[in-house]
Amino acid sequence: MNIKHDILIIGAGLAGLRAAVECLGQADVAVVSKVFPTRSHSGAAQGGITAALGNEEEDRWEWHLFDTVKGSDYLGDQDAIEIMVRDAPRVIYELEHMGVPFSRTPEGKIAQRNFGGHTRDYGKRPVKRACHAADRTGRVVLDTLYDQCLRHQVKFYSEHYVLSLAFDRKRCAGVVAYDLPTGEIRFLQAKSVLLATGGCGRIYKTTSNGFASTGDGMSLVYQAGFPLEDMEFIQFHPTGLYPLGILVSEAARGEGGLLRNRLGERFMERYAPTVKDLAARDVVSRAILTEIREKRGIAGKDYVHLDLTHLGEEKIEERLWEIASFARIYLGIDPVYEPIPVQPTCHYIMGGIPTDVDGRVLVDEKGSLVQGLYAAGECACVSVHGANRLGCNSLLDLLVFGRRSGLAMKRDLSREEYPVFSEGSLRNADSRISELLSRQDREKSGSIRKEMQAVMMRYGSAFRKDEGLKKGIEEIRSLKERYGEVRVSDHGKAFNYELVEAIELGHQLELSEVILLSALQRRESRGAHWREDFPQRADRYYLKHSLAFPTPKGPEIRYKPVKITKFQPEARVY
Ligand SMILES: Cc1cc2nc3c(=O)[nH]c(=O)nc-3n(C[C@H](O)[C@H](O)[C@H](O)COP(=O)(O)OP(=O)(O)OC[C@H]3O[C@@H](n4cnc5c(N)ncnc54)[C@H](O)[C@@H]3O)c2cc1C
Repeated sequence: MNIKHDILIIGAGLAGLRAAVECLGQADVAVVSKVFPTRSHSGAAQGGITAALGNEEEDRWEWHLFDTVKGSDYLGDQDAIEIMVRDAPRVIYELEHMGVPFSRTPEGKIAQRNFGGHTRDYGKRPVKRACHAADRTGRVVLDTLYDQCLRHQVKFYSEHYVLSLAFDRKRCAGVVAYDLPTGEIRFLQAKSVLLATGGCGRIYKTTSNGFASTGDGMSLVYQAGFPLEDMEFIQFHPTGLYPLGILVSEAARGEGGLLRNRLGERFMERYAPTVKDLAARDVVSRAILTEIREKRGIAGKDYVHLDLTHLGEEKIEERLWEIASFARIYLGIDPVYEPIPVQPTCHYIMGGIPTDVDGRVLVDEKGSLVQGLYAAGECACVSVHGANRLGCNSLLDLLVFGRRSGLAMKRDLSREEYPVFSEGSLRNADSRISELLSRQDREKSGSIRKEMQAVMMRYGSAFRKDEGLKKGIEEIRSLKERYGEVRVSDHGKAFNYELVEAIELGHQLELSEVILLSALQRRESRGAHWREDFPQRADRYYLKHSLAFPTPKGPEIRYKPVKITKFQPEARVY
């Protein structure tokens, strides 16, 4: 069956839905999502959204700009960051008008809290910048935007899995999707396609990400022959619940929570003397891992304590209810009385599909575009987070650049005719599925996935070195070979999740190789990318974005310059 829409948005997280809202009433918009829309990972965001509103204390967008540039270890593009931080207050008031129930100050203004790396006076001391709805911010914003879409009759293809992008010569012509409830394969034709497919944290064993964060969109673009940017930069969040990796939001430290080692020391005082527990995430994660390596983990194990006991029951129940309930449910620990065991957990990818500031996908280092294809949100790289993202800057990124992509798609529509319906892509997808289902091989995707996650933890997490990265690449390549023999034992049509998981695994293996190879070639330490064999930042050689191009021999890495407008690189101390 052939379906046609002006604009097709892949992904119903905040980036996708914000783009859809922008097009309401002016274009025929449809949203495709492999999970039920409100189950997108955006709904798990607890902490908040940053904006220099100055509701609790003086704040300025210039400070937000400086913090984000410094947080990015000077790799973020400053023109894009400036667009984002200047637009932030408007984003918050707009959400308020749509009905988002933000937490309030006693005078009734939108409440704000501290988050790591956000400061006033260019790094002098922490500032309250994150607007929040208790610790359920992502949930309420996602529900509000979904509600806006339903009210305006946006068409949702829920539980539809996008298998491939289709092209009419060099122009994106739509997608081929697998309808999970029926097992039918469909071509969805569009003038413009926006990828808003989220992150890929599930490549790692310990992660805060939901099951759907498998990096499909990034991999689809790479498989279509286009490059991926800055893929070596993977964020490990300092506080995952030990040993599960489920997130304990930075809001816990924003509200006054403290990290302590085996000796009860507030060790962050040694690593970040000015802002201590509220330093940027890469700094805090490395500090925790160093404490553990130097045998100051709790009871000789791989975790430290996050202590909230001094905050008191009332504050914990009012502002950190969900975080406290996670500790109670998953570990049987009550944070009112006992510290929470935490360890760094894979959280976010700073890199992704290269785009301009209006979401248009870029295909080389010269800035050439691919017609009809856009990307926004965690799967995209504008780049506003550079080598390390600051807390609560992601939701802001999704809302600012989701909206800008929507605006650009609307603007570009008038010039566009419908591209040609692509019988070929439909046939390819169909035969690929039949081939997967008819295999008699022995490999199971579950065991390959487990090995991949262990390889990525061992060689591609917070500390990296040449020898390990090379070994990791070798092991991922041999897993890719074994993947060629994966067998799907469920041959049913409806809700064949085994089939979907096998396809997702192919994307994850592709991205693992890109991540490790990009990391191998960056012989310096910057932000979240820490090379034990090259512990200094080397601006002379590596103040540039990596671009990984697909070739038959694997990824080929080229580079493009960083856009610097206001702040020249300086030593990064907190
Ligand atoms: C636990 C947690 C807490 C966080 N807290 C915060 C916070 O407080 N503040 C902050 O700024 N950031 C936070 N982040 C980061 C932020 O939430 C994410 O970066 C963001 O939600 C990503 O949004 P997105 O719109 O790009 O994609 P997602 O919300 O991940 O949605 C992806 C969408 O793509 C769809 N999709 C993917 N592949 C396919 C396919 N093949 N076919 C069809 N559909 C597909 C999915 O169905 C889904 O709808 C947090 C992240 C986590 C994991």
